[in-house]
Amino acid sequence: MALMTGEEYKKSLNDGREVYIDGEKVKNVADHRSFKPIVEAKARMYDLGHKPEFKDNTTTTLPDGEEICLAYKLPKDKEDLTAIRTYVDTILDDLGGVVYRVGDETIGEMWSLYDAQDKLNENDPAYAKNIKYHVDRVAREDLFHVSANTDPKGDRSKLFSGKDGGTLLHVVEENDKGIVVKGAKFETAAAYAHQAFVKPTILDWQAGEEGMAPFACGFICDMGAPGLKHICRSPLDTEKNETDYPISTKFDEIDTLLIFDNVLIPWENVLFHRSLESAAYIRNTLHRYSAFNYVLRVLRRADYLLGTALLNVEQTGLTKLQAVKEKISELISYREGINAHLTAAVANAERSPGDLMMPNQSLLYTGRIYALSHFPAMAHLTRELVGGQLAVTPDSVTLSDPAIKGYIDKYYSVGEEWSAEERGKLLYFARDLLNSSYAGHRTTFELFAQSPPFAQQMAAFSSFDMEPQREMVKKAANLKTLVSQKN
Ligand SMILES: Cc1cc2nc3c(=O)[nH]c(=O)nc-3n(C[C@H](O)[C@H](O)[C@H](O)COP(=O)(O)OP(=O)(O)OC[C@H]3O[C@@H](n4cnc5c(N)ncnc54)[C@H](O)[C@@H]3O)c2cc1C
Repeated sequence: MALMTGEEYKKSLNDGREVYIDGEKVKNVADHRSFKPIVEAKARMYDLGHKPEFKDNTTTTLPDGEEICLAYKLPKDKEDLTAIRTYVDTILDDLGGVVYRVGDETIGEMWSLYDAQDKLNENDPAYAKNIKYHVDRVAREDLFHVSANTDPKGDRSKLFSGKDGGTLLHVVEENDKGIVVKGAKFETAAAYAHQAFVKPTILDWQAGEEGMAPFACGFICDMGAPGLKHICRSPLDTEKNETDYPISTKFDEIDTLLIFDNVLIPWENVLFHRSLESAAYIRNTLHRYSAFNYVLRVLRRADYLLGTALLNVEQTGLTKLQAVKEKISELISYREGINAHLTAAVANAERSPGDLMMPNQSLLYTGRIYALSHFPAMAHLTRELVGGQLAVTPDSVTLSDPAIKGYIDKYYSVGEEWSAEERGKLLYFARDLLNSSYAGHRTTFELFAQSPPFAQQMAAFSSFDMEPQREMVKKAANLKTLVSQKN
């Protein structure tokens, strides 16, 4: 196999998958108006790997000479992690916007399981072989790989029993060919991806009972598999005017409710089965690598906030005010806080149990909390600096109407540098970054898509070594008692 082109990717989506959106059954995802913008963005990423000027930053070779996407190379040293950062910067620079679920972020979830081959061997040696095969296959076949974790849980008392055997996704049959699964998952990008790593949702699997075993499974599912139904949410402003909605018209990543209606998962795609221990393990380590790619995107969003605020206050001369400088400085500190976590996570990277190189876990997880918990306040500060015009500016077609152009030029242009048209473009960008339907959806996506805030706090709690602080206080307070750690 070889690196895919954008055209090959688009053709590959026409595989008979069952996709529904806005009350319509989709014939071909790549041609459908709701998916077209984001499919084009992903196709553009595929094409980058074929352009000589981008090759160094987006591709690499396996030891046997096979050329693969750089983001799919297992990280073995700090240089590999730095290369991942360069890869993400390169694709986002080229796109001129932020997309999250485009493959490089979700691949890391398989690397977490790759780290646990010893544990998988205890469950069944075939599973360790399978995870190695799939990590390699995604790279060699250049697949768009995504991640399905969350079931629409509903009533928590009916998760494991009741009508149809429980609401959580579970195995209903085992046969010569594989396991048959039934259930539902949420999954951004599923309708235009090739495959997903499907796994148990957030629960206390470690303390689980034997009755939970059919629910404790992890597997790779082909997104065109028979019995799989993609039920997608409506697009957000994808069909509006590109000048007025410069972000939502290009980068709406459609979310899907995936229904598994007795889907057969071949044995070679099963990564664990009836293993509460594996379910607990993957939930505890899921974002070991992928949080790095995720937080890199939030950093990029911080850059857009800062740039938008800056250009707005500079065009009107407000930057001279001390109070405005202080607010810009707050945005800079936010941006640099995220940057510091990411940079330090690579500088202090750690050897993983599977002999890979993982970003420093404590710095990565606390960086994710820092980036996401401060984003709403920083967006609000940017909104304040841009001013109310981001909400009241008329659309671009009206602004260019010859009958009123004279008024618009008089009241909307600023000096020689900022014509009314240019000023409008900046305000439309600010609106789409901060106020549009897309902007609101993005903030919710960022809050939840890599697990909810409480689970992010748990990841930070578990990855920090608290012993030095305990010892420091025992020594300084001259404590003689043996202080036991109570959970
Ligand atoms: C835009 C978007 C895109 C998404 N994309 C994906 C995707 O690609 N793949 C995927 O698998 N999932 C995806 N998700 C789902 C996401 O992972 C879940 O929303 C998230 O895990 C929370 O689950 P939930 O929505 O069922 O909320 P719930 O589990 O119902 O939790 C809601 C709230 O209840 C509280 N709560 C619940 N349980 C606890 C607890 N044990 N301790 C403390 N507080 C608790 C918390 O305040 C929590 O935020 C996406 C979600 C959104 C919004």
